[in-house]
Amino acid sequence: MKYTLEVDLHTHTLASDHAYSTIHDYVRLAPSRGIKLFANTDHGPDMEDAPHKWHFVNSLTLPRVADGVGILRGIESNIKDIDGSIDLEEPIRQSLDIILTGFHRPVFAPRSIDENTQAMVKVIESGKVHVVTHPGNNAFPIHIEEVVKTAARENVALEINNSSFLFSRKDSYPNCCKIAELAKKFDAPISVGSDAHNAWDLGKFDKAVALISQYDFPAERIINNTTDSLFNYLKTKGIDIQDQFEW
Ligand SMILES: [Zn+2]
Ligand SMILES: [Zn+2]
Repeated sequence: MKYTLEVDLHTHTLASDHAYSTIHDYVRLAPSRGIKLFANTDHGPDMEDAPHKWHFVNSLTLPRVADGVGILRGIESNIKDIDGSIDLEEPIRQSLDIILTGFHRPVFAPRSIDENTQAMVKVIESGKVHVVTHPGNNAFPIHIEEVVKTAARENVALEINNSSFLFSRKDSYPNCCKIAELAKKFDAPISVGSDAHNAWDLGKFDKAVALISQYDFPAERIINNTTDSLFNYLKTKGIDIQDQFEW
């Protein structure tokens, strides 16, 4: 396969009530799923079933590498408004390695295409996020070209979310195709995420890979293709942590 994809940047543990596995479960299954490094990205505190904000601060206590598998401290935060605010306070951000953000209906009800676009553009321009999750969600229509051009300029990754083609957001496929096509055209980075809610889905990228393969999407523009590509991407954001991982 053209893509290595040994990093998964989007997983939920049972700290989010609608997910079913522990960090330990993810570590145990990672080798068989081809994953060397994964980010624990439970939902930001504004979601109804999210963990308390201390969950994120205390992720500092997690080992960098457990049983040969790297663990990144992350969050899937929520876009709160059209000014691009997210539910992540500054002191908590400093405990984390990677910040995902996206639209979730309980926090941000879908608005007009112009307002959805403004919210996403502003959050990308804020400089406070690394990955926008499931931007192809058809429940939140956006002006895709404007978002992709902004992501390219700001070097923020747009996610092709594998779960969007399996469980939820199933009508996202045409939008995700457009995102992949335009991300290649305008040289925007992407992230391929499983959005696993149980450990057996870790590294499950089959549908997303089939989609990006249609466009012969360049592997070097996928921030989670290899551990090196992920660490190099984070370095461009001032997060230099590669040396902390002793494999
Ligand atoms: Zn999400
Ligand atoms: Zn998620």
